[in-house]
Amino acid sequence: MAKKQFAVIGMGRFGSSVAKALSNLGFEVLAIDANEQRTQEVANMVTHAVSADTTDEDALRALGIRNFDVVVVAIGADIQASILTTLILKDLGVPKLIVKAQSELHGKVLSKIGADKVIYPERDMGLRVAHHLISPNILDFIELSDDYSIVEMRAPDQAIGKNLKQLDIRAKYKCNVLAIKTDNHMNISPYADDIIKENDVLVIVGKNQDLKNLEIIYAEG
Ligand code: ATP
Repeated sequence: MAKKQFAVIGMGRFGSSVAKALSNLGFEVLAIDANEQRTQEVANMVTHAVSADTTDEDALRALGIRNFDVVVVAIGADIQASILTTLILKDLGVPKLIVKAQSELHGKVLSKIGADKVIYPERDMGLRVAHHLISPNILDFIELSDDYSIVEMRAPDQAIGKNLKQLDIRAKYKCNVLAIKTDNHMNISPYADDIIKENDVLVIVGKNQDLKNLEIIYAEG
């Protein structure tokens, strides 16, 4: 199977880090920005870097944008440019369109005009930092949907030395322990009699409200 080809539009902090990461992972990346200097800054880190105004349909056509498997639109502040670019890319038939939104309203418009996925990097990072601030035991927090999330937490004191059956997280908090990380080993199918050790990390899935209850109880421990 041929490797996926990506185009990333907008070389701000977010767009340029997506472009560089994809390139480091060995994928072909076309980086586009209206600002020549921004394009230059990433030129030696991606496959191709070009200066173009992506609200110009002919410019996008000339770049052969529809031949890319995935296009990421990472234009932030200029909401009009972000919306116009998305609309044109959709019309040109880009197979998968991922667009960064500044606000809920911006995101709603993007979904309506056909963005396949809308991402909110600032909001999501804020959420993750907030969960970490509730308790240093919360290492990471990933939103799966509006209602469900995954939380990665260091085993609280009250869990150490107990097995999953004794902790009874499923019945008490309606959450599920997906995995237990011990040092560098990941136990991805934990059994009821697996014992939680000091410094273990629990990966737990659940409804947001249920996870919140569990986080509060386990925050101090
Ligand atoms: P970040 O937070 O990721 O740094 P941001 O949300 O502040 O980014 P901007 O800096 O406003 O976003 O935009 C990102 C990039 O998008 C800028 O480098 C800008 O030049 C580029 N850009 C804006 N409009 C267009 C356009 N019409 N065509 C191509 N690039 C554009």
